[in-house]
Amino acid sequence: MFRTHTNGELTLKNLNEKVTLSGWVQTIRNKGFMIWIDLRDRYGITQLVLDEERTSKELLETAKKLGREFVIKMEGTVIERTSKNPKIPTGDIEILVEKLTILNESQLPPFTIEDETDGGEELRMKYRYLDIRRNPVKDKLIFRHKMAQKVRNYLSEQGFIEVETPVLIKSTPEGARDFVVPSRMNPGQFYALPQSPQTFKQLLMVGGMDRYFQIVKCFRDEDLRADRQPEFTQIDCEMAFVEQEDIMNVFEGMTKVLLKDITGKDFPDFPRLTFAEAMQKYGNDKPDIRFGMEFHELNELTKGKNFKIFDDAELVVGINVEGIADYTRKQIDELADWVKRPQIGAAGLIWIKFQNDGVVTSSVNKFYSEEDLKKIIEEFGSKAGDLIFIMSGKADKVRPQLSALRMELGNRLGLRKGNEFAPLWVVDFPLLEFDEESGRYHAMHHPFTSPKTEDFALLESDPGKARANAYDLVLNGNEIGGGSIRIFNRDLQSKMFDLLGFSKEEAEAQFGFLMNAFKFGAPPHGGLAFGFDRLVAILDGNEVIRDYIAFPKNNSGRDVMIDAPAPIHPDQLAELELKLDLKS
Ligand code: ASP
Repeated sequence: MFRTHTNGELTLKNLNEKVTLSGWVQTIRNKGFMIWIDLRDRYGITQLVLDEERTSKELLETAKKLGREFVIKMEGTVIERTSKNPKIPTGDIEILVEKLTILNESQLPPFTIEDETDGGEELRMKYRYLDIRRNPVKDKLIFRHKMAQKVRNYLSEQGFIEVETPVLIKSTPEGARDFVVPSRMNPGQFYALPQSPQTFKQLLMVGGMDRYFQIVKCFRDEDLRADRQPEFTQIDCEMAFVEQEDIMNVFEGMTKVLLKDITGKDFPDFPRLTFAEAMQKYGNDKPDIRFGMEFHELNELTKGKNFKIFDDAELVVGINVEGIADYTRKQIDELADWVKRPQIGAAGLIWIKFQNDGVVTSSVNKFYSEEDLKKIIEEFGSKAGDLIFIMSGKADKVRPQLSALRMELGNRLGLRKGNEFAPLWVVDFPLLEFDEESGRYHAMHHPFTSPKTEDFALLESDPGKARANAYDLVLNGNEIGGGSIRIFNRDLQSKMFDLLGFSKEEAEAQFGFLMNAFKFGAPPHGGLAFGFDRLVAILDGNEVIRDYIAFPKNNSGRDVMIDAPAPIHPDQLAELELKLDLKS
């Protein structure tokens, strides 16, 4: 037997009991006549003690051979500690060692396995199995497990059935590139790894499953942005005989359960914004509504004062930032430079200060009198001490630019608190978005999303204006879930493929199986998917999703621990009838 208890459970209640424990040696303090060992496992740390008086010489010798991360098994008696450690549950006791077995030795680990480690990111990724021994990493994996468990319970209680869908499939377009897998048995042909189980879950609805979910790996070969993983996990769901409202209710309910578990609080119904409102108020379709700084449009108040930049702009829009009127010229210039960086691309930043002494001044005093400025201040409802930032230009450019500034200020001013949660729905997304580069429409969500019934006619007259029955769930400035009511009518689906520029042959080759299924009584259906990694990170007050994945890839999509991707053996290539011709 390796253990009677774990290292996290013994207390004064167990005094004088004989116990067996196993685990890793976290630290050894050797005072010569006395040795203390911190023994660690997933559950905690227990202090072991050996001394010249009570321990045999032989045992002391074995203990002296121990090093950090050795795996040991010990037997001994629970005794009361003289100097207690109130920080850990086992801090009142220690174990007087009577028998000690070294189960395995360990090399000196490349970084210290403690909450605060000296290991850099890359090194910890390379030895991820050692990193997982550390509380901050281990706790995140446990948190993830708990959330997955809650989700499974909630959905099962609501009548959802977990069904596994295949991983070797044919491309499903969700806007990214596919990872492909060559087929040995079908030379020259490839499977694609699912970007999501979208078409399969729709087929499950045709199959009458009624309510489906799956906690499932998805794969997208995208250019890696910070904190994107090429493989990630979704809570994927689909329901039949439902309208948008039904779906939103079920998943708002699920999110409330998770939020209640974490905060202990009941959340009121989530606010809703249309896509158009979100863009107008926050310049962003996933707004962080934990802090104000809502956009105010200022074209009317600023025009006709000979300030050409504003007069010529399609949109003049600003935000009021509370309590920073004492920002120095230097601080403001630094922010202006920040928004002018190519990543954001703003043309400039105009400011108005409502100073604490009541004086109103601005960077455009030449054009606007104090009276003009006061009207703007009234528009915002600013208070003495506030600072207003204004940007102008084309609406679709300037909104995201001001949104970036708003988020940056939210971060800098500490307004984006990890333990505060502000969920909301964004609804009524446009069905299509026009892609300048390819000169054609793309589905904003995916090609299976249904237009709003009242916008059907627009598909003929002005497709860009048609709105979709699509919705996103947003939490703290992140899209945590998104979905739509699907097209379940063959003709409409075919029309949609036309609009997206698929020829009849292409549509048939790629989606013939779905179109076929629609011939056999497809029920009305819809669903959504949550990004599980991100959801878990945010619920845990964090935004770095990598920390919540046991074995993540780095920013270049590599697993530095197993060193993948990697070349394959020429024999494997030959078997696949593939030839590599790498020119570059
Ligand atoms: N398949 C979609 C996605 O991955 C979600 C959905 O429409 O249900 O975003």
